[in-house]
Amino acid sequence: MKELEAGPKGILFVISAPSGTGKTSLIRRLLEEVEGLAFSVSYTTRPPRPGEVQGKDYHFVSKEEFLRRAEEGFFLEWAEVHGDLYGTPWESLRLSDDEDLILDLDPQGARRVKDLRGDAVLIFVVPPSMEELERRLRERGKDPEEAIKERLADAQKELDQIHLYDYIVINDRFEEAFRRLSSIVLAERCKRDRVLRR
Ligand code: 5GP
Repeated sequence: MKELEAGPKGILFVISAPSGTGKTSLIRRLLEEVEGLAFSVSYTTRPPRPGEVQGKDYHFVSKEEFLRRAEEGFFLEWAEVHGDLYGTPWESLRLSDDEDLILDLDPQGARRVKDLRGDAVLIFVVPPSMEELERRLRERGKDPEEAIKERLADAQKELDQIHLYDYIVINDRFEEAFRRLSSIVLAERCKRDRVLRR
C-alpha cells in the first residue's frame, strides 16, 4: 500500500482534440457538472479570442515572457502548436492534491504527461469527419482563413497520434459526447487501485 499512497491523489485527465472539435465546450460543461474537477490553466503566446478571460482560459503572455519562464523550468511541458507556444506550469499539479485535474493539451503535451505520470488518463475527442470539422471551424468564425487552413492540416497530424490515447470520444452530438466524457471520469474514479489509494 505504501507506494499507492505516494504522490498527488487526484487523477490527471488529459483531453486533446483537433481545433474546432468542440473540446472547449465539453470541458466547460464537465467542470460545471462534475464535482471535484480542477482545470490546469496553460500559458500561451496566442492572442486572446473574443470572450476569453486572462487567467481563466489561459495566461496570455508575450513570447519573451514565455521563453524566459521555459528557461527557468516553470513548465512541466511546453510545445509549439499552430505557430504559437503553449505550456503547462508545474504549479497546476498542486491542484491535483485535492481534486482531479483536467489538462487540455495537444498530443505532444499528452505524451509528456503520460511519461511523467503513467496513470494519467488520455482522452481524445474527435469530429465525426474532416468535412464536419471544416464546417465547424468556419462556423465558429473566430479564426482568420489562413489559420483555419493551418488548423485543418494540423488536425490530420493530430489524428495520426490517436494510438497514444486510452479513450476516444466522437463528438457527433454534444449531449451524447458529454455523457461519454463524464462517464469516463466517473468510471476512472471507481477503479479499484484508485479507490484503495484514496
Ligand atoms: P487553442 O489555441 O485552440 O486554445 O489551442 C490550440 C491547441 O493547443 C489545442 O490542441 C490545445 O489542446 C493545445 N494546448 C493548450 N494548452 C496547452 C499546453 O499547455 N501544452 C500543450 N502541449 N498544448 C496545449
